[in-house]
Amino acid sequence: MLNVRSIDPAAQDLIKKAHKDGIETVWDRYDKQQPQCGFGSLGVCCRHCIQGPCRIDPFGQGPDKGICGATADVIVARNLLRQVAAGAAAHVDHAYDAVEALELAAQGKIDYPIADAGKLKAVASGLGIDSEGKEPDALALEVVRVAYGDMGNHHNRPMKWVSAHAPKQRLEVWESLGIIPRNPDREIREAMHQTTMGMDADPVNLLLATAKQGLVDGYAGLKLATDMQDILFGTPAPVVTEANLGVLKEDYVNLIVHGHVPLLSEKIVQWAKTLSPEAEAVGAKGVQVAGICCTGNEVLMRQGVPLATNYLAQELAIVTGAVDAMVVDVQCIMPSLSQISSCYHTELITTMPIVKIPGATHVPFALEKADEAAQEIVRKAIGAYARRDPNKVHIPDYRAKIIAGFSVEAIAGALGKLDPVQPLKPLADNIVNGNIVGVVATVGCNNVKVTQDIFHVEMVKELLKNNVLVVATGCSAHALAKAGMMNSEGTERYAGNTLKAVLRAIGEAAGLGAPLPPVLHMGSCVDNSRIGDLVTALANYLGVDSAALPVAASAPEPQHEKALSIGTWAVAMGITTHLGVIPPVLGSKQVTELLTVGLTEVIGGKFYVETEPQKAALGLIEDIRKKRQALGLDQ
Ligand code: SF4
Repeated sequence: MLNVRSIDPAAQDLIKKAHKDGIETVWDRYDKQQPQCGFGSLGVCCRHCIQGPCRIDPFGQGPDKGICGATADVIVARNLLRQVAAGAAAHVDHAYDAVEALELAAQGKIDYPIADAGKLKAVASGLGIDSEGKEPDALALEVVRVAYGDMGNHHNRPMKWVSAHAPKQRLEVWESLGIIPRNPDREIREAMHQTTMGMDADPVNLLLATAKQGLVDGYAGLKLATDMQDILFGTPAPVVTEANLGVLKEDYVNLIVHGHVPLLSEKIVQWAKTLSPEAEAVGAKGVQVAGICCTGNEVLMRQGVPLATNYLAQELAIVTGAVDAMVVDVQCIMPSLSQISSCYHTELITTMPIVKIPGATHVPFALEKADEAAQEIVRKAIGAYARRDPNKVHIPDYRAKIIAGFSVEAIAGALGKLDPVQPLKPLADNIVNGNIVGVVATVGCNNVKVTQDIFHVEMVKELLKNNVLVVATGCSAHALAKAGMMNSEGTERYAGNTLKAVLRAIGEAAGLGAPLPPVLHMGSCVDNSRIGDLVTALANYLGVDSAALPVAASAPEPQHEKALSIGTWAVAMGITTHLGVIPPVLGSKQVTELLTVGLTEVIGGKFYVETEPQKAALGLIEDIRKKRQALGLDQ
């Protein structure tokens, strides 16, 4: 029973320790929730007004409408729109923080130097801003003005971040459907308004509004956040490190950064190095920083910080008894961390005004005092090290070598060794000739309903065997990193022959002396924008709509509303998007049919739900082959 919780041997090991230590984990709480509410699972429960809650009888023997007359179709569509709007809101809020940081940095009001003037120029140029003769700070302020212009746009013009970055054919499709966002805050507000009691009762109109929220997420959330963060902290380039809980070190102060935003964690990485002598003074060899979730991915991509683990094993990191401090920022943070920390010596540190957890220490983070906060946090970790109980320490000795840092710029850099004039040509040529059958992006979370990591790993094995190149972000990237799919050995082991030959050729040309990994780590969840950029660049290079490309996406173990909003954006890009966990929509036949079939006619993309990994891979390959056929490419 214990071993079906996860395929990660480190997690399996620590689940046993958790039971021995009397720790309740996410899996125990999941068991206690069984059976879960069928109405909620089908999406047919409505609490949008206080005449309710209302629920529709899915068997047709009880109520078929809510008190106000809302049908199952209306209730399911409204619930979905709210979930997707919530996911988009999380990313837009993240992006807004990054815009503010760039503004303050450019004004010299905070100690965050602009790290990547080249990216700044590229972003400015994309927005039509001339950078000739301008200092980086002045140029950054012009870029910030455009971002604020989008955030505060009170006209009915499309957001510039959308019109500047989306594929041309897509803009035409979205315009015809009336779903190009004007201002992210306004669109999110409108979604809340549209779904409140007594508003929209047309499931089709509600789903179009949902697609619009996907675009809000894709451009005002993901793309904007990545652009700002690359300018501030640098565009990732290949880094080599390790993944899994074995990266924790018994004789070091272990400090875990967890959440999604790099604004504080970048400072923590810097101060962990600077304050290393203070760790040595208390008997440790230094400070080991490791990452969970997307904060982990952010500092991995730019600083080479090792990955500790992904979402579902966050509690188990503390169960090692070797984590001296875990600092969290926003999103995907289990409230249970506080209770578990109290059973060990771990200092759980919250930092953001909108994320406080009783029992945790709160060290307020403000951009103006980021260095002070980072120092305080590192010192708290060093202080906790002295309280560590060696009898409670168990670090499972599992870690896999990974090569990460594959921004679009880094991929173009590697490919440019084969064709410096047209760096995308080698990739496009190998897709056209069928050496690479297609590209699948695996993204998103773990979900306790699925054995941890199994869907990511087993599905990707099948894709690679069939010569499909995989790019990954988020907790999917963590899972594939831990499984050894992000190193050159992974290419030899998992890639089909033609894919292997391409990865060997690129690896040799790029001077790696070994093949490129078969799964390219493209970053955090907001860095799904990098995948969007790659898709857009490929579509432009081949002169086709992104909907026509032999490209698909998958969230094999989605749990968060953000996964739904990212997936909706991918569908709006015309991409078939697989979900390995059924979202709460099955209570409406109409909504389910529209999401999985009907949308294709109007938007090109669709959701594809399959809960068995091999079948999902084969389904995606079939979809890719159909697209190849439509383009007249070799099969
Ligand atoms: Fe019930 Fe309608 Fe109120 Fe929802 S909005 S709780 S369906 S009365």
